[in-house]
Amino acid sequence: MKGKVYLVGAGPGDPELLTLKAARLLRSADAVLHDDLVPGQILKMISPGAMVTNVGKRCGRRSIRQEEINFLMITLASANLKVVRLKGGDPLIFGRGGEEIEALRAAKIAYEIVPGITSALGAAASAEIPLTDRRASSAVVFLTAHLAGYKDETDWSLLATSGATLVLYMPGSNYRAIRRRLTFAGLSPDTPCAIVSRATTAEQQIHRTTIQELECTPRLPAPTLLIVGKVIRLGTRAAEILGSQLERMFDHVSEPKPRADATVAP
Ligand code: SAH
Repeated sequence: MKGKVYLVGAGPGDPELLTLKAARLLRSADAVLHDDLVPGQILKMISPGAMVTNVGKRCGRRSIRQEEINFLMITLASANLKVVRLKGGDPLIFGRGGEEIEALRAAKIAYEIVPGITSALGAAASAEIPLTDRRASSAVVFLTAHLAGYKDETDWSLLATSGATLVLYMPGSNYRAIRRRLTFAGLSPDTPCAIVSRATTAEQQIHRTTIQELECTPRLPAPTLLIVGKVIRLGTRAAEILGSQLERMFDHVSEPKPRADATVAP
């Protein structure tokens, strides 16, 4: 029986960050159910004969409930189709992957998970922020301030005092509330942070600031991520140091002198 669901990560945006396996599955799928965050360039890779449905939750139309997405996946796979459930970033990071796996297991549908580059890693690479660095932080925490339908019980003070780099998914635009929550948790107001908007895409924007100044920063277009921690300064410092070292290296390199026997063009 070929009916199977593939929970596939589409990566943070740049189509070249898609895995080879994801690209192969898109070319051979019978049906693709994708999120809003998946860019058009990636959707173009889907085989022309496949049924493609946007099951994203912010298309301006009535949002599709999780139960409906589960129902669609199960119905299509039961009809013996190869179904790709395509999600932004990695399917198991803030992507309701767990709920979908549970539904597939309960319905006894075969499934496979294909990881993708989560947006935190895409954003860190674009902004040249080492998420861990032995001089500043040996841990990184992915968290969100937004848990749709659930009360957020996460105690940020444990995370804040651990010294870990924090990557906040779905920060929204209420920077004031985030500033308050981070300082209340015990982070110093001068802790550096960076907002990365549309990481790894042509519209990417990066804004570096501090927790204190967060409220005064421009609201960048969604999706955005907030990275908080000392590593942010290190990233820029490393680039500066490297830049000045390169400059010094080139100071000692003299321009090549023309060889005595070289013929000079008239
Ligand atoms: N599964 C996804 C996360 C889904 S939650 C992943 O692994 O990345 C959606 C949130 O992800 C957005 O609100 C935003 O915080 C973040 N996000 C996704 N793509 C992004 C991008 N290209 N740039 C910045 N943030 C992004």
